[in-house]
Amino acid sequence: MNTLLLSAADPETPELAAEILRRGGLVAIPTETVYGLGADGLNPAAVAKIFEAKGRPGDNPLILHITGAEQLELYCHDIPPAAYTLAERFWPGPLTMVLPAKSCVPKRTTGGLSTVAMRCPRSLITRQIIGLTGSPIAAPSANLSGKPSTTTAQHVLHDHDGKIDAVVDGGPCSVGVESTIVDLTEERPRLLRPGGVTPEALLEVLGDLVIDKAVTAQIDRDAVVKAPGMKYRHYAPQEPVVIVSGSRERAAAYIRAHFVPGDRVLCFEEELPLYGGCNPLAYGREADVSTLSAGLFSALRILDDPAVHKVYARCPVGGGVAYAVQNRLKKAAAFHIIDPEVEP
Ligand code: AMP
Ligand code: MG
Repeated sequence: MNTLLLSAADPETPELAAEILRRGGLVAIPTETVYGLGADGLNPAAVAKIFEAKGRPGDNPLILHITGAEQLELYCHDIPPAAYTLAERFWPGPLTMVLPAKSCVPKRTTGGLSTVAMRCPRSLITRQIIGLTGSPIAAPSANLSGKPSTTTAQHVLHDHDGKIDAVVDGGPCSVGVESTIVDLTEERPRLLRPGGVTPEALLEVLGDLVIDKAVTAQIDRDAVVKAPGMKYRHYAPQEPVVIVSGSRERAAAYIRAHFVPGDRVLCFEEELPLYGGCNPLAYGREADVSTLSAGLFSALRILDDPAVHKVYARCPVGGGVAYAVQNRLKKAAAFHIIDPEVEP
């Protein structure tokens, strides 16, 4: 198959992409979070192709992308008022809500669950494509399963060239980590995955928020969890990643003492001068966390190289978007964190 590279700047792209989706094909779409691998979310045969292309476990559900909150009732029932309040505040944007699914949503899309994850992305061209398709677009991140997510059209081609119908190139993703997921199907709202919409902002609107244990700890493969995607090793390059916590100077002293040729250091731009001779790669500026979230997956992809033995990574501290960056880096490191004060 020849994978078409469609430019978001080309006025014919929305209709071309929608036409492919209407006939059951796969189109990678740009969003503010990461590139998604899209199919008609109401067509089980089309959705099955997403799982096949990614090598994704069948119990790992997809997110349905819609054009706005007015479409929620087409695919969900018993929608609490909080869903509309959140949509009003954060849509279009990097927030996904889990709600009870109507029977028109195929089990193939929900991974067999009776709930469905809904999002309205910020990208205008992607919303145009959804509208022209006339169906919600089911899309997980467009990476091969287990690999770092895709934040450029080139990442998508790297993983899927020749295996999907088209990629819409909308440039690099601005947020760079996958959407925040909040479950609204229980008595209390529950954060299933941190992202660009911060826990603090959610709490301000909802007045209550439970942090799911899958956000803060490694989950067993056999465990029953609310967000099935959270139990799989994620976002990870092939070699071990270890987070080194603590102050700049202590972390650098630890890493420099343990570094051997073939290792790499994933750090903040401000720290580059501390790692001369250690082959450092900066993924953004510590002083501006949005550059870290935007740059993380590109950096993890560069480090996903058989020549690299081990990666020592530096992780931002604190809440807000840093919380999402911590979550993705900890998952890439399978929660392996070294504190140089404890383990000199
Ligand atoms: P991805 O966009 O690749 O991160 O995949 C979407 C993620 O959304 C999955 O890994 C799930 O963890 C989560 N998700 C999708 N649908 C549901 C649902 N019905 N309930 C809980 N989590 C969901
Ligand atoms: Mg994913």
